[in-house]
Formats: sequence, C-alpha cells, structure tokens
Amino acid sequence: MTFTYARRYRGKIQAVLLDWAGTTMDYGCMAPAVVFVEVFKRQGVPITMDEARAPMGAHKRVHIQKISQLDPVRQRWEAAHRRPPTEADIDRMFADFVPLQLACLSDYSTLIPGTLEAVGAMRRRGIKIGSTTGYLGEMMEINRKDAAKQGYEPDSTVCASDVPAGRPYPYMCLQNVINLQVSPVEACVKIDDTIPGIEEGLNAGMWSIGLAMSGNEIGLPLAEVQALDPGERERRRQRAYTRMYQGGAHYVVDSIAEVLPCLDDIEQRLARGERP
Ligand SMILES: [Mg+2]
Repeated sequence: MTFTYARRYRGKIQAVLLDWAGTTMDYGCMAPAVVFVEVFKRQGVPITMDEARAPMGAHKRVHIQKISQLDPVRQRWEAAHRRPPTEADIDRMFADFVPLQLACLSDYSTLIPGTLEAVGAMRRRGIKIGSTTGYLGEMMEINRKDAAKQGYEPDSTVCASDVPAGRPYPYMCLQNVINLQVSPVEACVKIDDTIPGIEEGLNAGMWSIGLAMSGNEIGLPLAEVQALDPGERERRRQRAYTRMYQGGAHYVVDSIAEVLPCLDDIEQRLARGERP
C-alpha cells in the first residue's frame, strides 16, 4: 500500500478561550505581580517586579514556588534565612497570598480596551467564549462579577484550582471544551498574554495567539506603556513578539483589540485542511 489518507477538520472556529489578567482585564497584569512582591517582602526577601512576573500564568502556589527557585531569589532567601526555602515556606507564603490578592483584585479589574468589541464580534460569528486562569475560584468570583458589570460574561470559566494542574498543562482548555460542548479541539483558539498560557493552548491541540503589549511581557499599565519613549516601547515590543513566537504562538498581536484578523486567517487555514 503506497498511500495513506488523513482526516482533517475543515469547519469554522467554534470556541475562543480567553485568559483573564493581561488579556481581557488588568492591562499590564499588575494585580498578581504586586502581591507576589509583598508576599516575599514579608519573608524578609525583597524581589523585583521582573522576578515576580517570571512564572506568570501558572497556578499561584506553583508560581510562588517557581519564584523561590530563581537563582538570585534563592541566594537572597539563603542570606536572610540561612537555609533554602522549604515546602512549608511556600505554603505559608501562599496562605499570605490569597487574602492579599482577594483584597486588591477589584483595584485592577478594568477591562482592557477592545475586549467588549472583540467578544461581541466573535459571538456574532457564532463562536462560544470560554476562559482559563491561574487565579483560584474565590478570586474569579470577584473578577467575574467586576467583568459582568462592565459587560463581559464568558460562557465558561475554568480556574487552575478546578483541574489537576494549571498551565502549561492543557487541562483548563480541555475542561472548557467539555463545558462548551465543542469539538474537535482544532476548532478552538486560545488567547493569552503569557508563554505558559500559549503552551497551554498548544498542549490542548488548539490554535494559540499571544498578546504582546497588554499583559505580562511588557508588564505596565496602559498609561505607562503610552508614556514610554517610542524607541524603548518598540524594543520591548519586539522582545515580546520574539519570545512569544519562540514559545510556539501561531500568531502574536499587541492586544485583544487586534485578534479578529487572526481568526479570519485561522478559518482560511482550517478550510484548506491545516491543523494547529
Ligand atoms: Mg494573563
């Protein structure tokens, strides 16, 4: 037998799965970063915003653990405590993290410009809206309420705490597939502002779009991004695009306001028999 034949999905996009902080709300993904800095400060270990952001996208306990494993943070920890951080230290910091994060979420819950327009256009095309997040369920109750007040209500929200493991594992995406009753996975598009969030979509067998400017890669509120020297802004933008393409993103754009042409392109590729 000389030939084999491959089965290909040639239909439309059925669902888009959106991240939360840095994708649909909290321009610059500020809320978690400021709390991670505070949590380490309380242990006598100062960390920078860049260190706080490095593992962004992960389950928040895993995130704290990954910060503590960064070489410079580990050295500062050992200088302060005369021993490496333990699981009990991570548990204690996570216990600190939860109430601090709950207390300040609403300070950062403004929708990112373009979110309502993009979601509205997707819905008019018959696309279902799912979402995934590294936040815990109790945090998402606050974010979902704040988002609904501003007119954004996804059909499904899955938290890292709802599944066996958060990003970069595909489980949150796959739980959305079940909740939304869509199939196959290549009819789904994952959109995120972090590399683990891009990998989450790829691991689920979906198309993955990275958002370079509105989230963790630049890590600044909109007004501060706009105030950057144009050369510096472009340098940071290019760095984010490079990192996200190297992370495997099928497309990278500045923010959710620019994703609709990517969806058009994906549908043309699906129609040609391409898969993610
Ligand atoms: Mg995010």
